[in-house]
Amino acid sequence: MTRRLGIIGHPVAHSLSPVFQQAAFDACGIEARYEHWDTPPETLPERIASLRAPDILGANITIPHKVAVLSLLDELEPFALRVGAVNTVVVRNGRLVGANTDGPGFVRALRESAGFEPTGRQILLVGAGGAARGIAFALAESGAARLAVWNRTGARATELVAELRAVYPEVRCETHSSLVSLSGFDAAVNCTSVGMEGTGTEHQLPFEPSDTDSGCLVVDIVYKPEETMLLRAARAAGRPTLGGLPMLIFQGALAFERWTGRDAPIEVMMRAARQALGSPVPPC
Ligand code: NAP
Repeated sequence: MTRRLGIIGHPVAHSLSPVFQQAAFDACGIEARYEHWDTPPETLPERIASLRAPDILGANITIPHKVAVLSLLDELEPFALRVGAVNTVVVRNGRLVGANTDGPGFVRALRESAGFEPTGRQILLVGAGGAARGIAFALAESGAARLAVWNRTGARATELVAELRAVYPEVRCETHSSLVSLSGFDAAVNCTSVGMEGTGTEHQLPFEPSDTDSGCLVVDIVYKPEETMLLRAARAAGRPTLGGLPMLIFQGALAFERWTGRDAPIEVMMRAARQALGSPVPPC
């Protein structure tokens, strides 16, 4: 039986997940089809119920359903419960289990693509939306020493910091008052959509990377374009950098590993995503 999976969101036509997940299933010789499942909010309950069909292996969940889906599932993994958002559904013994691989995917990208170990480090997050939330929880879980959050709408940063403090009292969590002062951090992460294609902010910087300390890792979670203005400016200023594509691939890899019980073919997934983005694909 061909197993089916899909990405549930609205809209989802531009999602890269079907491209790199299908490439992963094909490379592993697993008979499965990964589809776009565009789901307007009013049809989410119906869509989630449809995951109980015997040919379904699981699903990914994206904007705007990552929180709304919680009440429709049978069970949540502990980390998804703490974050309060789900991006992956796994069918386990007929039960729909929600997982959150966004933040853990980010941490894996830090370790495996940038050689950066977050334990004991001081990290600045710029942005306090859904992505920042998953990242902040995963960094706290990984033993970061200090997390500072700045957001355009200050109240959202304050809320996120209050939640982090409640769950991880051992981590020094604080709001960051201004983007004028960026020293004292081992990594500075853009978690906003500034710089993303199609937002009209492609030529803007979410923060000035040359204001960070000289060894500070500058991370942009925006992956379209793969080479953002922030990454270019950071490299020009001599900072080490990490783009958003590895996080996207590793969150997908962690989902793939839950669905199949097998290691994800990271290189295959990365090549497929790069090809779809029109980025240069390095030779094998
Ligand atoms: P979201 O929940 O809508 O949050 C958007 C964030 O960006 C908020 O903090 C918002 O600030 C900020 N923002 C938007 N426009 C801004 C501007 N002009 N100036 C300053 N701040 C601005 O979105 P999200 O899900 O967190 O996603 C954020 C970005 O991360 C998107 O570009 C998305 O593609 C990317 N992302 C990448 C991955 C990956 O795997 N690499 C995964 C998830 C998301 P306010 O609160 O003030 O509005």
